[in-house]
Amino acid sequence: MIIPSSDKLCLLDPHQVDFQQWHLQSKTPHIRYIAFVTALLYLLYALLENGLGLRHSEQRLLVHGLLVPGSLLIIGALSYYPRLHRMMRALLVIAPIGAIFANLWFNIATARFPFFAPEIYLAIIWTFAISGLTLRYAAISATASAILVLAMTYLEGVSSYFLELHLLWILSAFLFGLVNALVLERANATLYLQQRTLAHSASSDGLTSLWNRTKIAQLFDCETALSHREKCPISLIMLDIDHFKLVNDTHGHAVGDSVLINFANLLLHNVRLQDHVGRLGGEEFVILLPNTDSSQAATVAALLQEKINRFDFVGVGHKTASFGITQYREGETLSAMLNRADQALYRAKANGRNRIEVL
Ligand code: GH3
Ligand code: MG
Ligand code: MG
Repeated sequence: MIIPSSDKLCLLDPHQVDFQQWHLQSKTPHIRYIAFVTALLYLLYALLENGLGLRHSEQRLLVHGLLVPGSLLIIGALSYYPRLHRMMRALLVIAPIGAIFANLWFNIATARFPFFAPEIYLAIIWTFAISGLTLRYAAISATASAILVLAMTYLEGVSSYFLELHLLWILSAFLFGLVNALVLERANATLYLQQRTLAHSASSDGLTSLWNRTKIAQLFDCETALSHREKCPISLIMLDIDHFKLVNDTHGHAVGDSVLINFANLLLHNVRLQDHVGRLGGEEFVILLPNTDSSQAATVAALLQEKINRFDFVGVGHKTASFGITQYREGETLSAMLNRADQALYRAKANGRNRIEVL
C-alpha cells in the first residue's frame, strides 16, 4: 500500500512520533527532578529516623540513607542518557516497591506502625502522580506495592483499631493516584493530538493536503543533511499542469479544484514512500526525491507523465503536465534548486508542453 507523503515519518519531526514514545520522552525532565528531590527527602528521613534510636537502626540507615536515595540518584543520572531510559524506567518501577517493602519489614509488627505507615500511602500516590511514570508503568508498580502491603498486613497483622483506617488510606492513596494518572494521561493525549493536528495544518496545503512550501523547506533541510552524511544524491521534480486556466474558464473553479485534488492524489500514489510531494501554489507541484539522481528522477517523471496522460479527470477528460528536473548540488539552498527546476520547466513549456526537461 502506498502511504501519502503527508503521513510519512520524518525522523527530525517530533510531531510524527507516536504518542506513547512522545509521552515517555516528555516525562524525562519530570522524572529527573522528582528523583533528585525525593533522594534529598529520603536523606532527611534517614537523619530523623536515626535520631529516634529504633531497632534495626543500621539497616534503616542503609535503606533510607543509601539504597533508596542511591537508586533515585541513579534514576536521575540515567535520565540524561536516552539509550538507558528503559533501565531508568525499570528502576523507577521497582524503587517504590522496595521502599514500601523495607517500611513494612521494619515497622508492620510494631506498635509504632501508624507513625511510619504514611510513607506507604505517600509512596503509592508518588508512584502514580509524582514519579513521572506513564500510567501503564505506574499502574504496574503501584498495584504490586498495594498487593504487597495488603499481603503483609494480613500475614503480620495490624492492631485492630488501626486496621480499618490503614485499609482506607491504602484505598484512598491508590484511587487518588490512579484517577490523577488517568486524567493526566488523557489530557496529555488530547494535547498531543491537537499539537499534531496543528502541526499538520501548518505544514500542508488546504486544498490537496500535500505538503506546503514551508514543510518542503524543512524536509529539504532534513534530506540534504542526510545526503551530506551518506553521500547520496537528491533530485527535485517541478510539475505544472498544462493549460489549466482553460479548465477553470470552461468548467468553473470548482471543477478546477477537483482536478487539482485528483492530480495531487495521482502524484502521491505513484511515488515511493520516502519521496515528498508538495504544492507550491496554483497548479504547480514539486516532488523531492531522496537517494535519486537526475536520470532516475527523469524515469520517475516519465512514469508520472504516462499516468497523468491516461487519467480521465471527471468532467474534464485528459490533461497533460510539463516537468522540470534538477539534481541537488552540495551546499546550495532550496531556492537555488527550485530556480533551476523552474528554468527546466520553462524550457519544457517553451518546447511544446507535456515534456520532461532536465537541467
Ligand atoms: P501553462 O500551460 O502555461 O501552465 O498554462 P496554465 O493555464 O496552466 O497557466 P496559467 O498560469 O496561465 O494559469 C494558471 C491558472 O490556475 C490560473 C488560476 O486561476 C488557476 N488557479 C490557481 N490556483 C487555483 C486553485 O486553487 N483552484 C483553481 N480551480 N484554480 C487555480
Ligand atoms: Mg499551468
Ligand atoms: Mg503555473
